[in-house]
Amino acid sequence: MPLLTARNLYKSFDGTGVLKGISLDVDKGEVLTVIGPSGSGKSTLLRCMTQLEAVDRGEISVCGETLVKTGENQSAVYSDRAACRRIALHIGLVFQNFNLFPHFSVLRNIAEAPMHVLGKKKAEAEASAMELLKKMELSDKADFYPCQLSGGQQQRVSIARALAMNPDLLFFDEPTSALDPELTGEILKVIRDLAAEHMTMVVVTHEMAFARDVADQVVFMADGVIVEQGTPEQVFANTQSERTKAFLSRFN
Ligand code: ADP
Ligand code: MG
Repeated sequence: MPLLTARNLYKSFDGTGVLKGISLDVDKGEVLTVIGPSGSGKSTLLRCMTQLEAVDRGEISVCGETLVKTGENQSAVYSDRAACRRIALHIGLVFQNFNLFPHFSVLRNIAEAPMHVLGKKKAEAEASAMELLKKMELSDKADFYPCQLSGGQQQRVSIARALAMNPDLLFFDEPTSALDPELTGEILKVIRDLAAEHMTMVVVTHEMAFARDVADQVVFMADGVIVEQGTPEQVFANTQSERTKAFLSRFN
């Protein structure tokens, strides 16, 4: 059974369709990369799957539990608040712009949610946070504030913050787009390492070599639909659609 299932997702803003029937499955331990031009709906898709945005209709299930399904009148019916909350706890999200709390230290940024959402004791939450900082090679930055770190370091803190909640499924929305090119590699390495540990991930990215190398499954989106979907070999080496070919040629 897939860890994440999305079926026929539709979402409009002000009458304009942004997601027009998106369906995908992500199995446990699998990495799905999402590529496509700016404005194609990639962030909206991630925001809908992580409950930051509500779909108009369609079905989303996470870890076997239904988040939303299409009701009799063809509009979205969300599960009750308790179910939505349980599902949210399975999921972590890493944003393009890090979204760290600027007035919290690095350590507190990571330990806060495990304490307040999971009810962990401070000592335990901070010990886990230190472990994660070590994994991110940031042990010496625990008492720093986000503004004192490079973009790459801030992004590694936000990955540690997501991991601190022990998610089953991690979403990344262009995690390197706000970084100087020389800092991109350190973030991609962290995601590659997580893939090697079989973390289940959905990664929106403009880094094509990375999207190809790290993925089990690649989705190419344009104008709110999935134009092409398959293994990296299928999408990158045996591209079917002219639209995908045109998009990929821009990166050569
Ligand atoms: P991508 O991440 O692929 O660049 P987005 O999902 O951010 O695409 O945006 C897809 C389209 O939806 C764009 O035309 C964008 O302007 C529009 N859009 C996204 N979020 C909103 C919003 N909250 N309100 C109105 N329009 C939005
Ligand atoms: Mg986006």
